[in-house]
Amino acid sequence: MSEMMIYLDGDFVPKQEAVVSVFDHGFLYGDGIFEGIRCYGGNVFCLHEHIVRLYESAKSILLDIPMTPQEMEDAVVETVRVNQMADGYIRLVVSRGVGDLGLDPRNCKRATVIIIAEQLKLFPAEFYERGLAIVTVPTRRNVPDALNPKIKSLNYLNNILVKIEAARAGVHEALMLNQDGYVCEGSGDNIFLVKNGKVVTPPTYLGALEGITRNIVIEMCEKLGIPCEEKPFTRHDVYVADEVFLTGTAAEMIPVIDVDGRGIGNGEPGAMTRRLTEEFRAYTHVRGTKVPGLVPEAV
Ligand code: PMP
Repeated sequence: MSEMMIYLDGDFVPKQEAVVSVFDHGFLYGDGIFEGIRCYGGNVFCLHEHIVRLYESAKSILLDIPMTPQEMEDAVVETVRVNQMADGYIRLVVSRGVGDLGLDPRNCKRATVIIIAEQLKLFPAEFYERGLAIVTVPTRRNVPDALNPKIKSLNYLNNILVKIEAARAGVHEALMLNQDGYVCEGSGDNIFLVKNGKVVTPPTYLGALEGITRNIVIEMCEKLGIPCEEKPFTRHDVYVADEVFLTGTAAEMIPVIDVDGRGIGNGEPGAMTRRLTEEFRAYTHVRGTKVPGLVPEAV
């Protein structure tokens, strides 16, 4: 395979040469934003929605991205084309840029823009077939007043602590609650439950990222005539749900079969989760932006 090329501030550079300064505030302070995007069969899934969220995150943290949203979309498509990556994961990072050791972002003259297109490290198939066991962890979600979880910022320490706690508990993913004890989301995915034929997910004002996969699931339910609601719920509601599943760009849709030692439903991925997952897979190849110039073998 030819060498991976990284988009770095307008140029394509080989992976080995794709380096940023130690004075970049993304590195020093987690000062920046990012997106994780997937490409399915030469289709960049929901590219537009990801770019909209990126620019909303930027606006919220007063970060000036030195490109228009259209230029950013074009740069993502071009990165996929240059790497001939029909199926894979795209990481888009915009940091505050190179400054000095002080916090003041005014010393960062230009944002750093990085786009990486990488072959997927897929989750093991058994995650999808058998479902995941998860636990609730002690670390609570960032309060929206401090750092709003709707901002997909480079400051992921909250999520990393959750991941560490999950690993120490011997599971792959965990549930985060907010300060009031309501269910928020996983370390890197949104949560849904199914009860009596209704699909429910927490409203994002409780403290969760407005996941693009989450929005697609809500949209699919509407299309299929399945009742779907954004409603606060507690751990108890999760324990007694008929089905639970997680959604995210990397995770796609993963059934959850056990939460804090309580088996969910009959302990197997449920019918609604399976139905929505099937529908979701069809969406991934049509909803988004096609990458021109991929050689047939790549697609
Ligand atoms: N919550 C968090 C904290 C995440 O990092 C992610 C992954 N981006 C998600 C939810 C799922 O969002 P999306 O469906 O847009 O990938």
